[in-house]
Amino acid sequence: MIHEYSVARRRMVEEQISEAGLSDQRVLQAMKEVPRHLFVPQLLIPRAHQPSALPIGFGQTISKPFTVGLMSTLLELKGHEKVLEIGTGSGYQGAILAHLAQKVISVERIAPLADQSRETLKNLGYHNITVLAHDGTTGYADHAPFDAIMVTACAPHLPPHLLSQLKDGGYLLIPVSAGDDQILYRYQRRGSEVLVEQSVSCRFVPLLEGVKISDAVTSDLSPTQTGETATEQSAEGDPLA
Ligand code: SAH
Repeated sequence: MIHEYSVARRRMVEEQISEAGLSDQRVLQAMKEVPRHLFVPQLLIPRAHQPSALPIGFGQTISKPFTVGLMSTLLELKGHEKVLEIGTGSGYQGAILAHLAQKVISVERIAPLADQSRETLKNLGYHNITVLAHDGTTGYADHAPFDAIMVTACAPHLPPHLLSQLKDGGYLLIPVSAGDDQILYRYQRRGSEVLVEQSVSCRFVPLLEGVKISDAVTSDLSPTQTGETATEQSAEGDPLA
């Protein structure tokens, strides 16, 4: 299964990541190895390597390959880090982080989605990522401090607890809304100071408070809908993330 689509993955990395100017070899290698097609619903496997976000059910999306490549690059991981990901979604970004760091804690507020991605990652043999149903707006104090924190949902502002859970020198990435737009911010703790940099304009689903334990949320992939409908909904709702 993993060797399936390896040609499509190599092309995806060359055309959407390398040619777009990203050159961290560890990130490129991880994206060539992680079987992205196994993180999308079966109906959408033929589209798994396209330069777009795709619906993963529960009204959520897997980010497009460039976004995953960019965010993974911006954390500047070397391999020894403990990373917190907020917004597990499909688990794809978490799997990439598991290749780049020593330990990944990934939290997801929709419990059935956390279960689903935990299962996917387990089936693929990942041992260094833990997926938890948890509201990441408070970070994860029990496991803090982290060498790096990546938020993959858009916040109205930086949640107050996150910087205090970041180690000195560590990076925190978070998309923050700015009117109709969203901007990806990178914060770095430097002693008592905090360095803030703005990266690209982006489009993510919102960071929401609270944990959702029931799966009684509208799934955009319910059996009554065709894959085409689900795809169109995603394209309208979330073209860039
Ligand atoms: N990283 C994902 C894509 C992110 S979609 C991937 O690789 O597939 C963003 C996810 O963040 C959604 O699944 C959404 O449910 C989750 N989310 C939103 N608010 C959250 C919060 N407060 N805590 C944890 N997860 C949250």
